[in-house]
Amino acid sequence: MPKLYFNIANHKKSAKIIFDFKESVEEEIKRGKPFTSWSPFLLKIPEEIFNLIISKKYLAGNLKNELIKLVRKKRTNLKPKKHFLEAKWDKIDNVFWKRVSEITGFQWKHRKYSCFVNDVTVGHYLVPNEIRISEHNVYPIAEELFHLHYWDIFKEVFNSKEKYPFTNEKSWLLSEIIVEYVLLEDPILSKFWKVKRNYDFIEKNRRILNPIWKNRKDFPSFLKKAHKAKGISF
Ligand SMILES: [Zn+2]
Repeated sequence: MPKLYFNIANHKKSAKIIFDFKESVEEEIKRGKPFTSWSPFLLKIPEEIFNLIISKKYLAGNLKNELIKLVRKKRTNLKPKKHFLEAKWDKIDNVFWKRVSEITGFQWKHRKYSCFVNDVTVGHYLVPNEIRISEHNVYPIAEELFHLHYWDIFKEVFNSKEKYPFTNEKSWLLSEIIVEYVLLEDPILSKFWKVKRNYDFIEKNRRILNPIWKNRKDFPSFLKKAHKAKGISF
């Protein structure tokens, strides 16, 4: 089974974590959303810096310095959080990888996964074997890890060569529903956490997906039927 390594994001890494949202920031701006409406960040990022993020291809020079300055100002002591998460995860670790593999019928693609504990963004995944977590809660760790596994399966099932991990908005939406079937409804995994669902689009879509999930032959056939039911074809 894979192993999860916990790290504290230093200033440089935290700056990179912010910069990695570049494409999403660009998307939001294209959709006409003002930069202030952007929400994965846990610190206030001035408009000039957003503009710099959009204008630069790589994180270097002035932008890097400015982001590090912002991060340094915000910095909290992340050691207790890392210890808390590590200790909690230790109790789940054994069961989690194995059970997710059983439910999906797919082995985990990587042997090592990294969890960067940080205080600049909410939990997310943007790199194939790395998650970034700021919550004082192990559920986001499980959720982001599942998402990574999910997109690896997705690529295989749909023979998708798209750049990791996003396809279209509808596929993303399905992934947010499917993670709950696995983590919140499985009798073994659901014992590890108490979670209040927070996306309202989930309930509406679950009515269509519930019977497909319940009657699935296996995970890939469920994926295909679920996408078809939502009118997504590849
Ligand atoms: Zn999610």
